[in-house]
Amino acid sequence: MTATMLSGKDLAAAIRTETATRAAALAEAGTPVTLAVVVATADESSAWYVRSIAKAAEKVGITCDIVRLGADATPDAIRATLAGLSADDAVHGIILQTPLPAGAALEDLAGAIAFGKDVDGANPLSLGRLAAGLPAFAPATAEAVVTILDHYGIELTGRHVAVVGRSTVVGKPVAHLLLDRHATVTICHSRTKDLAAITSTADVIVAAVGRAGLITAEHIAPGAVVIDVGTNPTPDGGLAGDVDPESATPTAGALTPVPGGVGPVTTALLLSHTVQAATSPNT
Ligand code: NAP
Repeated sequence: MTATMLSGKDLAAAIRTETATRAAALAEAGTPVTLAVVVATADESSAWYVRSIAKAAEKVGITCDIVRLGADATPDAIRATLAGLSADDAVHGIILQTPLPAGAALEDLAGAIAFGKDVDGANPLSLGRLAAGLPAFAPATAEAVVTILDHYGIELTGRHVAVVGRSTVVGKPVAHLLLDRHATVTICHSRTKDLAAITSTADVIVAAVGRAGLITAEHIAPGAVVIDVGTNPTPDGGLAGDVDPESATPTAGALTPVPGGVGPVTTALLLSHTVQAATSPNT
């Protein structure tokens, strides 16, 4: 058996096309859509990610305002900037880029992002509402996982999904989205005993760990679907997933590539959320 590659590229392009149409209609009606990205880091891979958001935004007709506060910005300065953008009617979506300066925590500061503009689901209120089954923007990466599974017609009802990783950015929100889809969800983390014994009973594995190549054939049931969220920089300037593709491919039924899987769908959904925020500001 060789795993089918679940590319995210065509799906991302379809989402971008729809987003561009909606952004153009909003601009025509007098609401040019704007996404603000607040950056308080000198981190190189973060800079690469911010550039890729800005480029993608431009392509769909969304203005991307990059607000650079410097790597020594204080938590108070970051909070004040987020509050200012939240009160600005010309700004529809707000992202606080990580990593943050020492002493600043995303879950603390993101509370200053207005709920209706929280297009990457960083405000704890968004995660709480998601958990309660109320409308909220999910973190784009978590939503990308479920969007890819839907796009490829992978059934979730009654199936066992093992999520590896419990961060508030990916693991926890994706678990809520999967529960909403009637999957039986097991969340694994660094203290999980015998990870392979659990993941190898799953129909679907979502790897969101941040350890290149952690998931190998021994973690995967024959024919299982594997969604690789990991984006780990490699010494040659490339990206490696949390799944070792060489080991996993002969066993898995389907696998998302890195790059070209979850990443492009995440960016496309972020922009789609921004248009949604501009359409109904009190979502
Ligand atoms: P994170 O906050 O560092 O969380 C990692 C999670 O993995 C933690 O829950 C940790 O457990 C768990 N973990 C660590 N080592 C483990 C092990 N050996 N076995 C089982 N679980 C283990 O990372 P994150 O922000 O969720 O990101 C995860 C990955 O996704 C990273 O590679 C990141 O770059 C990538 N990512 C990609 C996108 C995208 O658009 N494609 C977006 C966001 C993130 P504990 O909780 O016990 O520490």
